[in-house]
Amino acid sequence: MSAFENFGVRQDLTDATRLECGICWTVYDPADGDDVAQIPPGTPFAALPEEWHCPNCDAPKSKFMTIEA
Ligand SMILES: [Zn+2]
Repeated sequence: MSAFENFGVRQDLTDATRLECGICWTVYDPADGDDVAQIPPGTPFAALPEEWHCPNCDAPKSKFMTIEA
């Protein structure tokens, strides 16, 4: 079964899309990167390493939700 294979794929992600942690509401802004994980500014969410997690609560990438502009 592969019904959930693409569950975490976000077709609406652009390089400038900001995402919000579903646990603690920390925002990942590609323009800012992530100092905690030494992610340089300008890194799209989609380009973050798979092991990246919320710098505040350690939630995995899959817990992040796109912020509607
Ligand atoms: Zn969090």
